Amino acid sequence: MTAPDFVRRTLEDLQAHGLYRRLVAVGSAAGPHVELGGRTVLQFASNNYLGLANDPRVRDAARRAIDRWGWGAGASRLLAGHTDAHAALEADLAAFKGAEAALVFPTGYMTNLGVLTSLVGRGDVVLADRENHASLYDAIRLSGGLLHRYRHADAGAAADLAARYAGAPGRRLLVTDTVFSMGGDLAPLAELAGLAQECGAMFVLDEAHATGVLGPTGAGLAEALGISSGVTAGVGTLSKALGGIGGFAAGSREVCDLLVNRARPFLYTTALPAAACEAARAALEIVRTEPQRRRRVLDLAARLRGRLRDEGFDIGKSETPIVPILVGEAEAAMKVAAALLGRGIFCPAIRPPTVPPGTSRLRASVTAEHTEEDIERLVAALVDARSATCPRL
Ligand code: PMP
Repeated sequence: MTAPDFVRRTLEDLQAHGLYRRLVAVGSAAGPHVELGGRTVLQFASNNYLGLANDPRVRDAARRAIDRWGWGAGASRLLAGHTDAHAALEADLAAFKGAEAALVFPTGYMTNLGVLTSLVGRGDVVLADRENHASLYDAIRLSGGLLHRYRHADAGAAADLAARYAGAPGRRLLVTDTVFSMGGDLAPLAELAGLAQECGAMFVLDEAHATGVLGPTGAGLAEALGISSGVTAGVGTLSKALGGIGGFAAGSREVCDLLVNRARPFLYTTALPAAACEAARAALEIVRTEPQRRRRVLDLAARLRGRLRDEGFDIGKSETPIVPILVGEAEAAMKVAAALLGRGIFCPAIRPPTVPPGTSRLRASVTAEHTEEDIERLVAALVDARSATCPRL
């Protein structure tokens, strides 16, 4: 097989700018210690916040479901792919979110595509935080809506934009991550909810990193802040704190019915395996009955943030288990990450286009399975790596 010339040129260009990425294969289960390149390293690279990806109860639930339903679903949801497991998971998710209904998609990414393309169309006005997840941006583009980005986590800037487009024809939609995936900071949700209400905008929240982690029952930031009305759809994922695969949207029965009928990433793809649904149900039950897991991950993350600040690192405005260590240029971030790996710690560098140029960073994500000693090891290795590679950090 051959590759056209532009492919090689593009790859060379990425390499020249320190932006070329390679897959790194992890050789063992999703705990804090993983096998990488033939040795065991301490990792801060997974969104398995509650340690459920490898929980025996979750694994058993998946195994039992495979025995009953087999592995693949074999068809889309509206054909033969919908099982009792899907229906039961959606009922559990609706209860978890305090919503009338929920609908499961094969991934969180596809959930965002499905939700936004069902709610807005050509010429509608979409207001979006500048640092929203890539899937939301792809979703807006696909919808044909007019994208207007406001300054990151700035409700005043969102209000200015809303005022500017107040007279525009069509529907309005305001969409934000609740926990930002690369900064671990929070959206100003109460102000944004007020704004959405004032300007009659639909309000969509991406709670991917808040699900299972924030709020009294782990339902997310909206729950933590007591924002229950006015949300058109709350998107979550089964792939991070819930330790599996899949995404979901929670909302009114009518919104979910619209998604069943209109969301192409729901309609035209094979259903999630029943085993993934049963694993997610087991994980949700653990979220419900073991609140100590979210307390643990939040406490450990607070400890890491405190220690890094004491050591003079810039960690932005993180308030969650996602803790960025801001470096600046992509190459410098790569050097620090490589130095950490040399010290037995996998904490990946995040570079453009995932983050804006000049804001490359290491992204540490803490899980409930880490220990206080793991946190100290990371801090010590960072201090060491800084003096070896990037003393100005
Ligand atoms: N939204 C946000 C904010 C995310 O960080 C991610 C995953 N990185 C997604 C959506 C997509 O979720 P999934 O990985 O389940 O497709």
